[in-house]
Amino acid sequence: MIRLPNLRTTFPTAAVACLIWLAMLALVQAQQREPRTEPDASRGPASAHRRGTPTDEMGTFVSKILWSTEQVWEAKFREAGKRYEKPILVLYGGLTPSACGMGAAVMGPFYCPTDRKIYLDTSFFDELTRRYRAPGNFAQAYVIAHEVGHHVQALLGIEKRVSDAQSNTTERDANQLNVRLELQADCLAGIWASWLRQLPGVMEPGDIEAALRATQALGDDIIQKQTTGTVVLDSFTHGSGDQRARWFKRGLDTGRLQQCDTFGAPEL
Ligand SMILES: [Zn+2]
Repeated sequence: MIRLPNLRTTFPTAAVACLIWLAMLALVQAQQREPRTEPDASRGPASAHRRGTPTDEMGTFVSKILWSTEQVWEAKFREAGKRYEKPILVLYGGLTPSACGMGAAVMGPFYCPTDRKIYLDTSFFDELTRRYRAPGNFAQAYVIAHEVGHHVQALLGIEKRVSDAQSNTTERDANQLNVRLELQADCLAGIWASWLRQLPGVMEPGDIEAALRATQALGDDIIQKQTTGTVVLDSFTHGSGDQRARWFKRGLDTGRLQQCDTFGAPEL
């Protein structure tokens, strides 16, 4: 059970940014493409009623986790001489408009690079426990940190380069690029966990295991087996459970951006 101090965080926090992460710039070829939605870590059905306002327990929890990600990424960007622009996190139920189109709880949490907002239907947290058998609030925190990872990718120009490249390639190759993007977001979430682990009295035994269970459970292979009974590698968009756990752990173990180069990795 993760414990974080009480905050007076305004909700949502807003920001815009533009930063280039030099180490990642040569990863993919730049080509023009329409903005797209980033349906994410979860793809299971979620209940449609509204839950989780900033004043309730879930809203407070989400605010705290978002705050913790801001501490990590502000520090990392500062080290690079840049300024981290905070994302907006939108809690919603059922349906929500976004600059990437209509978001639905059934899509699970997603990040929209166009408006730089994270969309989270907190009923997904129930899904994590019940359907994906990944209970614990650190598993939930990982999901938020993963979406923030996509925001970091947007700030660094990585998301744009990937979506540009995807617009001019086969579906199979576009899926593979997406897998690398997703695994990198897992690695970035691992960097967040690495930072948190250094704080005294915040994390408790079992927290890391809870996050790893979530990364495993949200792997394409596990979800495909559950939903269709078969596994189709070419259709993977997020990576296998083992891959997701591996990249999360790499970020966790190293705490270094340079270790999250999924695009340059010969093996995932
Ligand atoms: Zn993702």
